[in-house]
Amino acid sequence: MNYRKLGRCGLKLSELSFGSWVTFNKQVDTGVAERMFGTCFDAGINFFDNAEGYESGGSEIVMGKALQALGRPRDSYCVSSKVFFGAAKDPAPTQVGLSRKHVTEACHQAMQRLQVEYLDLYFCHRADPDTPIGETVWAMHNLVTQGKVLYWGTSEWTAEEITEAHEFARENHLTAPSMEQPQYNLLDRERFEVEYAPLYEKYGMGTTTWSPLASGALTGKYLNGIPEDSRAALPGYEWLREHMVESERGQGRMQRVANLMPIAEELGVSLSKLAIAWCLLNGKVSTVILGASRLEQLEENLEALEVVPLLTDEIQAKLSLQSA
Ligand code: NDP
Repeated sequence: MNYRKLGRCGLKLSELSFGSWVTFNKQVDTGVAERMFGTCFDAGINFFDNAEGYESGGSEIVMGKALQALGRPRDSYCVSSKVFFGAAKDPAPTQVGLSRKHVTEACHQAMQRLQVEYLDLYFCHRADPDTPIGETVWAMHNLVTQGKVLYWGTSEWTAEEITEAHEFARENHLTAPSMEQPQYNLLDRERFEVEYAPLYEKYGMGTTTWSPLASGALTGKYLNGIPEDSRAALPGYEWLREHMVESERGQGRMQRVANLMPIAEELGVSLSKLAIAWCLLNGKVSTVILGASRLEQLEENLEALEVVPLLTDEIQAKLSLQSA
């Protein structure tokens, strides 16, 4: 495992990390999570991603129990949470968004569920048009000075919103965001590569990128329909099935996945490993957050590290052409 700096910060994260969206508390119970974390630690992974909104806080509870059970030194790994969507099933207006109140209370609640005394990384899961950016920057700055958060960041904010947060922090001598958490994979490149391009140097922005397999689309397993045991078949995720596979957009994306298959075959590797390895080629990526509903998937995905050296300039050009 290689370790990459989180942008300009001193923190070094494993280039592959592990997240729990959809999976923990739904497809993955505490026992399986424990085995998955064991595999992660053995591979050198040191960052685990979570959010208040995943399974209404249930995902953080499972992660907290599994990490406690493993008993690794707390200073040897990082955990995150994200605030915005809320953990309550029927949230009151004060239980969502990026107000000072919710940012502060969500941090305390996430620490309790994860059984930690501080969050290494804490993200604003989306921008909140109802809260002035300055109020959120102040709330994050206060959590940092209280030692409850070490690095704060954004997720899927526009370049303009990230710039506004930085400018406010600079003008008021506050802690600026250190990282963004955007989607980045062979099918979704525009924001990461184009919109954010000016921000990497200007602000030393680190990135913890999500959905390297586009929710599983880049495994190729949806090319012949929806497997019963897959994310797109889960009750409550009909929107994802529509978005990923069934809509006109989804069908276009499936065609792009089909076009990539022969390249994986030529290299003699699975498309999953190839797609994850491709994300690692970009030096602006601090860490690629993996997802897995089964231990075997995690084991396979970790082997992506062996595929990186196979991605010559010629292969990269083919991947860009066929995924476009
Ligand atoms: P992926 O795009 O890698 O999708 C993971 C899913 O794909 C798995 O749960 C599994 O689903 C399927 N899969 C993974 N590997 C294989 C394999 N080898 N063979 C077959 N199927 C496979 O990542 P995620 O979408 O899960 O995102 C990763 C993490 O990023 C999340 O856990 C979360 O921490 C973060 N994230 C952040 C977001 C944000 O807004 N900030 C949004 C989304 C994710 P199944 O078996 O059920 O089909």
